[in-house]
Amino acid sequence: MPYRTLYRSERPQRFAEVVGQAHVVRTLQNAVSAGRVAHAYLFCGPRGTGKTTTAKILAKAVNCPRREGAEPCGGCASCAAITAGTALDVLEIDAASNRGVDEVRELREKVKFRPAAGTFKVYIVDEVHMLTNEAFNALLKTLEEPPEHVIFVLATTEPHKLPLTIVSRCQRFDFRRITKPDLTARLEEVAARAGLAVESGVFELIARVADGSLRDALGILDQAAALGGNRVTLADLHSILGTVTEEVLERLVGHLALGETGAALVLLQEVEAGGKELRIFARELTDYLRGLLHRAFGTDQPSPGGVGLDRERLIELLSLFARAEQEMRFATRQILPLELAVVAAARARWPGAGADGAPQAESGTAPDLWRAWSEVVAEFRRRNPPVGPWLARSEPMLAGSRKLVLKFRDELAKEKVALPENKDILEKTLSRFFPGRWQITCVTDTDSGEP
Ligand SMILES: [Zn+2]
Repeated sequence: MPYRTLYRSERPQRFAEVVGQAHVVRTLQNAVSAGRVAHAYLFCGPRGTGKTTTAKILAKAVNCPRREGAEPCGGCASCAAITAGTALDVLEIDAASNRGVDEVRELREKVKFRPAAGTFKVYIVDEVHMLTNEAFNALLKTLEEPPEHVIFVLATTEPHKLPLTIVSRCQRFDFRRITKPDLTARLEEVAARAGLAVESGVFELIARVADGSLRDALGILDQAAALGGNRVTLADLHSILGTVTEEVLERLVGHLALGETGAALVLLQEVEAGGKELRIFARELTDYLRGLLHRAFGTDQPSPGGVGLDRERLIELLSLFARAEQEMRFATRQILPLELAVVAAARARWPGAGADGAPQAESGTAPDLWRAWSEVVAEFRRRNPPVGPWLARSEPMLAGSRKLVLKFRDELAKEKVALPENKDILEKTLSRFFPGRWQITCVTDTDSGEP
């Protein structure tokens, strides 16, 4: 018998076994029990959260002659065929692989024929947002008048890319990232059943890096078990994942706390040279900072964990590195956003400071302002949350020394920010970054000055 990965062998076969999606499962169970299944469902959510698994359970439930309540029996010919992927009435289309043109065309031709064996034909279209326009149009025609015996389950990680005409014809369910406690509990069950010896801390680390995806979590456990021959150690896990130990994170944050920018940059280079996956590193770093922040607010200590960072500083660092993590998705050189965040952290430490952390007389030039602008906006948001989003709708232009013109896309946003009390907060925020008395003028695209 060929080896089956944990993800496959541990795939839930009943609604009750689906992890962390109680809100979706309950609604589907009720629909199945009451015989009121919709003709089209849209399952949205991050990868590895159980969308296609749930779709297959639904396909089994509606076709199982020995159904118990809403749950498929799992043992009849229909259930067995669907589990094995050989059922004629359950068709899986992966829109990501060939964008679905041929499949959807074939679907349109065959959809009118009655199911071969069961009660319903179930079409599961994975990553449906990848379909071509042509395929979407073909699908839409079918969705407009679905035959009685057909159920569509459209699954996607990116629902915003779907045409509204499709979305509006489906009953939508949002699958959530699976929480760390749910992931940990599931990993424990699976490991116990598979007879794995697991070192303490392993489940927690896997749950942390899997980022809400059960598929990823089980995949990692699989790899680790294969490497260690049924023994899973933290050291093996770190080498598989390219994660770093808490000690490295502690050192980096320590450098940042002390303003040792050079040392922090060197440490980053070591992490990269060690072959670590930098995006995982960035996520671990933000998780670590978040942990410190929670401790700082939870325990009311001004300086948590002995790292010498107060709450304000922690918030600053967290927002800098969270942004770096985002930017790394699009960066061709992964280390660059991290390095820029380290440098920006030094600048934030001393308002008006240069990249080396030393105060700079000539700071506040236009390029400086543009570079710091998103931080200025973030800081303003913190000081004045209701008005922050309005400021974010403006574009800054420097009109001389300490003179700022904000160009807004709409009148309402301009009016909000231009209120004297809000302008005052913005001036103070700016002078934290670039010391001096600031003068701010708000305009829109269409006018040249304030009324
Ligand atoms: Zn059955």
